[in-house]
Amino acid sequence: MDTAQRERARTEARQEAARLGGEGVRAIALTWVDNAGITRVKGVPTGRLPHAAHRGVGVSPVFDVFLVDDSATTSRHIGGPDGDLRLFPDLDRLTVLAGQPGWAWAPADRYDQLGQPHPACQRQFARRMTERAAGRGIELRMGFETEWTVLRAPSAASTSDSDHAPDVAPLFVPDRPGAGPAYGMARLVELSAYLDAVLAALVAQGVEVLQIHPEYSPGQFEVSVAPSDPVGAADDAVLVRETIRAVSLRHGYVAAFGPVVEPGVVGSGRHLHLSLWRDGRNLCRGGEGPLGMTALSEAFLSGVLDALPALLTVGAPSPASYLRLEPSRWAGAFQCWGPENREAALRFITGPPDEPDAANAEFKCFDAAANPYLLVGAVIAAGLAGLDAALALPAPVTGDPVGQDQPRLPTSLPRALARFTASSVLREALGEPLFEAFAAVRAAEAELFDGTPPAELAAVTRGRY
Ligand code: GLU
Ligand code: MG
Repeated sequence: MDTAQRERARTEARQEAARLGGEGVRAIALTWVDNAGITRVKGVPTGRLPHAAHRGVGVSPVFDVFLVDDSATTSRHIGGPDGDLRLFPDLDRLTVLAGQPGWAWAPADRYDQLGQPHPACQRQFARRMTERAAGRGIELRMGFETEWTVLRAPSAASTSDSDHAPDVAPLFVPDRPGAGPAYGMARLVELSAYLDAVLAALVAQGVEVLQIHPEYSPGQFEVSVAPSDPVGAADDAVLVRETIRAVSLRHGYVAAFGPVVEPGVVGSGRHLHLSLWRDGRNLCRGGEGPLGMTALSEAFLSGVLDALPALLTVGAPSPASYLRLEPSRWAGAFQCWGPENREAALRFITGPPDEPDAANAEFKCFDAAANPYLLVGAVIAAGLAGLDAALALPAPVTGDPVGQDQPRLPTSLPRALARFTASSVLREALGEPLFEAFAAVRAAEAELFDGTPPAELAAVTRGRY
């Protein structure tokens, strides 16, 4: 970032600060997502926004080696108490938070004190990969589906920040609101006011919601949002989660985004939808490849499918992720693809014949423990490697992959991590400092939870993300 860019940002931030101040915004939350998948924050009073846009906000690089339990490890290039970075808010995404009166939000990029990009900045990594794809004439559209479980807050009635009475008493599971039948209207009725508030907050923040519905497990819901560019999709994932969290608390609930709330039940995924575009045309349609995809789409998706065992470390990064990633739970536990197949890690959606824009690929094996910026960037890198190698997809799988001799994805974090550390494609794309720091955090979490009984692992991780 050069001096002129920073001057321009300060000028823009002055106008934004004046506007936000007029709307009653007292402070801005500047967020980044660390290698543990946790959204971390520094807040600045609205009047300090111009300074933040010009000089950045100081933050330690040690967060690159933080774990989900807030302990820290170290890595070859990053770790330890020394040094400082600067957080720069992305003013284009500055958003007044509907669920948190008095607050606005902006995702931040991390730079060093001389204005050079921090090599382990995950958001800039996502942007670099998006630009790399653009250099090949490919525009990517992506969107995350967010699943979460609504839990009753321990002292719901006395929650001081709650200005709504909790919704009516649960119908089926005593401690779990929204516990009616899977996908049941009863669930939606029970939590009507709450879900309406979630929707209203997202809409007020300019997030285009496509669907909101009850999921399979008691208290579990999903919201899906319109596709965007990769960095925008990752920003949306951050905003959607924090919005759901904020609205939940104001209704006396706690939103759990962890891969499982308890072992042995259907968990929560955060599936990634993507499509490839060129000159306004969806390349997932109108080609000669399987299900009408173009050769370019086929090679890109083959690259991602091929790399899934390594990508799982990024997209299903918690030891708890592997309590979710089981067959017969629509989690995509097999390294295969199929048309509309909900048990395949890659579900290909052609969309109706008269809606060519709708064709897209859904990667189901990922969950919300993932850093969404790292994930979109790593997926692009794997897809481009597929293009370079002109890969073709294997035969599609219809029906349950169980018993069809399909490869299972890694069944534990250490197994996935072994594939990640062996991936020269991901090492090159992420760059040494980010690759090493991320791998160190994964290894440390695997060790931290080694031997932890599943029920305890679920209990200590479910509310952390
Ligand atoms: N909850 C499932 C998962 O763990 C996904 C259900 C669905 O297909 O939406 O990913
Ligand atoms: Mg779902």
